[in-house]
Amino acid sequence: MPPTSSRHAQNSPPAGTKVNQVILGNLLFKTWYDALYPEELVNKETDTLYVCGWCFRYTCDKSAYVGHRRVCQLRSTPPGTQIYNDAGYSVWEVDGERQKLFAQNLSLFAKLFLDQKSVCFDVSGFLFYLLVYIDPENPGVHHILGYFSKEKMSWDANNLACILIFPPYQHNQLGKLLMGISYRLSMWESERGIGTVGGPERPLSEMGERSYIRFWEERVARYFLRDLQQVTNGNGGPVKPPKTKKRRKAKSLSG
Ligand SMILES: [Zn+2]
Repeated sequence: MPPTSSRHAQNSPPAGTKVNQVILGNLLFKTWYDALYPEELVNKETDTLYVCGWCFRYTCDKSAYVGHRRVCQLRSTPPGTQIYNDAGYSVWEVDGERQKLFAQNLSLFAKLFLDQKSVCFDVSGFLFYLLVYIDPENPGVHHILGYFSKEKMSWDANNLACILIFPPYQHNQLGKLLMGISYRLSMWESERGIGTVGGPERPLSEMGERSYIRFWEERVARYFLRDLQQVTNGNGGPVKPPKTKKRRKAKSLSG
């Protein structure tokens, strides 16, 4: 769960991990938890797994990986539909039923960094929201930084199932961005009468709980600071939602 400490990974290598480290795109980093890749493709002696940062296909063969990177069909654009875009960061909604292989490969990769959540191979019932960054100086290449998944039909009104910012990109407030988007989507559905405003699937992992506590501490603090500011300015009326950057982002979600 984000934001997770990369130091944690270095200090607490998981027991029985089948994959020691991964290369994602051109980044090398350690895994944290047991892999669930098929043993006929990724055996227990695997030290380095090569994972495409665009489609999340995987291989133990470096030359095959290099070859795939040149012809990856998702090299030019992420799958799915863009629902958010601001300052180079965008979120793409991917239907697990339509993009089954992509969703399964993404889930398998995420399992290397998630302990409590089980990887869902039946991805058809989930939507996946990819956090993508495009460097303005190199607009031809996109980077998937993390994601969260969400059940299409949740009886418990869960607005989020799994969330992960990939280790090299953590500690940049990106988890909060995705959490905020998960609530905004939930509110949007509620306004349309097709759901209620819910929260993340429980139980939360220890790190997930800390992340959500920080997220809500910040939200509550901001709310009271605005309230206090209005009182200080002599406006004792009801607190109206201010026109903040967050709200402008929210409009782009529902637009
Ligand atoms: Zn690929």
